[in-house]
Amino acid sequence: MVAEVIVDIAHSEVDKIFDYLCDDGLQAGCRVTVPFGRTYVAGFVMRVKETSSFASLKRVARVYDEPPALCKECLVLAEKIAARYRVPMALVLRLFLPSEMRSGKVGEIYRAFASLAAGADESEISPRATAQRALFEYLQEHGKTPCTLLRERFSGVLAALEKKGLIAVARERVQRSPYADMTAESAPHELTAEQKNALAAIASSEKRVQLLHGVTGSGKTEVYLNLIAENLKQGKSSVFLVPEISLTPQMLSQLRARFGGAVAILHSGLSAGERFDEWWRMRSGEAKIVVGARSAVFSPLENIGVIIIDEEHDGSYASETAPRYNTFDVALLRAEYNGCKLVLGSATPSVETYMHARAGDYNLIKLTKRINSRPMPEITVADMRREVHRGNNSFFSAALRRELEQTLADGNRAILFLNRRGYSRSVICTECGYVAKCESCDVALTYHHEEHCLKCHYCGARYRMLTACPECGGKHLSYNGAGTERVVEELQKLYPAARVLRMDNDTTGGKEGHFKILRAFADGKADILVGTQMIAKGHDFPAVTLVGILDADMSLHFSDYRSGERTFQLITQVAGRSGRGEEPGKVVLQTYDPENAVLRYAVAYDYEGFYENEISLRRATAFPPFSLIVRVLVSAETDADALEGLKRVYFPLEKIYFDNPDKFLFFNKMHAPVKRIQGRHRYQVLMRLTDGSLLPAVYAVCAENADRRYLAYVEENPANLS
Ligand code: ADP
Ligand code: ZN
Repeated sequence: MVAEVIVDIAHSEVDKIFDYLCDDGLQAGCRVTVPFGRTYVAGFVMRVKETSSFASLKRVARVYDEPPALCKECLVLAEKIAARYRVPMALVLRLFLPSEMRSGKVGEIYRAFASLAAGADESEISPRATAQRALFEYLQEHGKTPCTLLRERFSGVLAALEKKGLIAVARERVQRSPYADMTAESAPHELTAEQKNALAAIASSEKRVQLLHGVTGSGKTEVYLNLIAENLKQGKSSVFLVPEISLTPQMLSQLRARFGGAVAILHSGLSAGERFDEWWRMRSGEAKIVVGARSAVFSPLENIGVIIIDEEHDGSYASETAPRYNTFDVALLRAEYNGCKLVLGSATPSVETYMHARAGDYNLIKLTKRINSRPMPEITVADMRREVHRGNNSFFSAALRRELEQTLADGNRAILFLNRRGYSRSVICTECGYVAKCESCDVALTYHHEEHCLKCHYCGARYRMLTACPECGGKHLSYNGAGTERVVEELQKLYPAARVLRMDNDTTGGKEGHFKILRAFADGKADILVGTQMIAKGHDFPAVTLVGILDADMSLHFSDYRSGERTFQLITQVAGRSGRGEEPGKVVLQTYDPENAVLRYAVAYDYEGFYENEISLRRATAFPPFSLIVRVLVSAETDADALEGLKRVYFPLEKIYFDNPDKFLFFNKMHAPVKRIQGRHRYQVLMRLTDGSLLPAVYAVCAENADRRYLAYVEENPANLS
């Protein structure tokens, strides 16, 4: 027999099928090792056939003794995705496998544990060997502990104690099941009439895509859980996608409580081993439900009954690394393959999605009321121009302060939202105008007070805080634009008795970083939660009765055609965190532009009005969804290489432009807005196309001009044009 193999090398030159001789019975989807050139490489069997048109084939060297890692559907899907985005198959296949499986580093379900040997006596350790003693005492206190952990904490002494016979090391099978301890009582709710209607409408619809447009707090999650339960009953599996941060402790415990071991959880904070185990639980059919961020769309589940994309408008569903897939596109392919429905949910659907729903391409279902007919929180607009006029230069308007004080007095909770972390946006010398910038990126540094350093928000680099201007020696440095740290500082000055928590990228490190903060807030350990957009989504804190939006204009002024849409979504989502419990909620929205149409629709909770306004604007200006913005980004270590790359892709692209002038609304090459990121020089060819018909040709230009010296890739309607 002959196996058609894709070798696991992501390079266009070897991006093709290689034939190898193999034994009878080898299955498609299996992992293999094959001789390749002068070495051996990993590969995947795509198909098995009788004969090959090539003579003198080499033989497959090793077949992994396990069920095929890739199911039939994955193979079909991978080929479609590779063709769509013009990326090497190897790169696409990697999406379907836990990375640990490729590296070969993880995989053993066995782990070494150390414990004190029977009769071990601490006096056998020299009194001067303090590290050995510390380890001994640790084991005395904690008992059996994984060796990896001990090696991290007590480096170098584990082996010594083992040699002395004081500790015993044994390998044991472990089951890594993340968040297994997270269970709460979570009986299914009695469904409301709207929820019942929604489920009935989804069940009876003929359409592939269903859009569940439900206001915040209308109980969309309960609808999803019912869909999943229904499918589980029929022996079918479910894919439940959420924006990364919406994997809240509450959501996880609800899923665990209802579906137990049938749920697999994928989360960027999982350890390599946990991810690997969850993956095999799905592949083996033990787990039939997956909940996770966008990469969970590649889960190895078979016989899928429903795919759900919650908060479908969220930017995290577009991948920003190769292959730059769109989660919706992949989900749709899987839904078609399985003949199942794709359910999108949001309180603020993207304009494009809503247009499809209005046009009848998708089935549109609405949840118009909050659970128990709770009112939507009333939004008060604070005009910050007037505050300044009155001499109030703080971050808090009089209205917000009044409401905060009332909330604290009532013993309720508040959330304050500001989409900028750190202490100040930039540091500027008031004498010469010098701005502190990152050495590897063309962006201003942000001052972080707590860590007393300057940070680059693009590459994460840290710099020592300046005491004087490095250009002119001036001592007067000004800190412009407030961040979350500064808001917390001000709050503590104003309300010393209030307990304040901060949630942003700086405070949520580690596996459970953001869970810890959310749980502390949910458990009533703080009165005020200050945070960036990560507090906007999905959270359900019944005690929150006040939401303050400190700078509603911030996202309005980006020169992005979607800035209005993003602002509307963000305000609606953040406001939706208020008044989800018994007590009605309030929102104070601070702005310098109270007349702005987007803000006015958001304040009135008028999604339809916003949509009408926005779609006619897009139509008039021929912006997406009435056109397609395509950017080819070229980057390289040196400016010369980046320019060389730009030249190589520009001329073939220009030819497409000259050949199809009627399909182009815009075509130009230029520096990328941020000229350098992480030391890489960046250029772009920016295009606005009337439709997607030329996309394959654009992708082909990048694929055919791939080169080691630079990186060139295509972005469709990029969320971030930096
Ligand atoms: P959404 O996702 O639409 O913002 P959630 O799904 O978070 O709303 O639901 C809001 C709250 O209402 C949650 O606390 C949830 O447990 C509760 N809930 C949902 N459905 C019902 C129901 N049928 N009866 C009572 N409470 C419900
Ligand atoms: Zn940087």
